[in-house]
Amino acid sequence: MSTIQQNLQAVRSRIDAATQRCHRASEDVTLLAVSKTKPIADLEEAISAGQRAFGENYVQEGVDKVKYFSKRSGSESLEWHFIGPLQSNKSRLVAENFHWIHTVDRARIALRLNDQRPEELAPLNVLIQINISDEESKSGITLAGLDELAAQIAALPRLCLRGLMAIPAPEADAARQLAVFQQMNQAFVTLKSQYPCVDTLSMGMTDDMDAAIAAGSTMVRIGTAIFGARDYVPTNSGALHNTQANNTLER
Ligand SMILES: *Cc1c(COP(=O)(O)O)cnc(C)c1O
Repeated sequence: MSTIQQNLQAVRSRIDAATQRCHRASEDVTLLAVSKTKPIADLEEAISAGQRAFGENYVQEGVDKVKYFSKRSGSESLEWHFIGPLQSNKSRLVAENFHWIHTVDRARIALRLNDQRPEELAPLNVLIQINISDEESKSGITLAGLDELAAQIAALPRLCLRGLMAIPAPEADAARQLAVFQQMNQAFVTLKSQYPCVDTLSMGMTDDMDAAIAAGSTMVRIGTAIFGARDYVPTNSGALHNTQANNTLER
């Protein structure tokens, strides 16, 4: 068995254990494999180990991977999530190639995605990114702005509002970390009661997935624990096929 297959099994066991501890069903938490900067060969290993949902942060790299796998049989079962910051001049590529976007944080980008989503595709699944603890980061809205943006997105026919996403700042104190995730869950529960299509709370990464699951996460975004440490941002699609390139520098 390859390392990636072993890692995936270990992560699935971690999800099982975390859900059991808080009396949730393990099927309630979707594992999103974050494959940014990783070569095609790594994704192929994950796919052969049964992984179907992948998260990408960089538009061009993500589109290259989507296109590569779309030519392969079985690609219909793959699900592609865009989880990086999105500049409006790149929105069309996301609207045309991905199934989900986790990082919508303004009405303007939602409108563009709605206009650019091709008719023949199902509506684009949208999560609103909340800036829950990291005031330094420019990504995400505050909870105060959530009602307005949610109503704007829910009115757009080519988008499907599915829930919320957050990347909380790391906390040394476990209780404090849990409290931040719980604050997100409260906002999620409220949103769900207003919009029946809302069913997804995307939070939890390699270092904080257990606390995120304890607080109610329904989708964890895991990179390092599956694919190993990342080195650098590839600048062109050629890097995707270079399996050697990923093992030297730590990013
Ligand atoms: C890179 C990234 C992840 C994965 O982080 P790991 O710590 O490697 O698991 C999850 N979410 C987002 C938004 C990311 O950019």
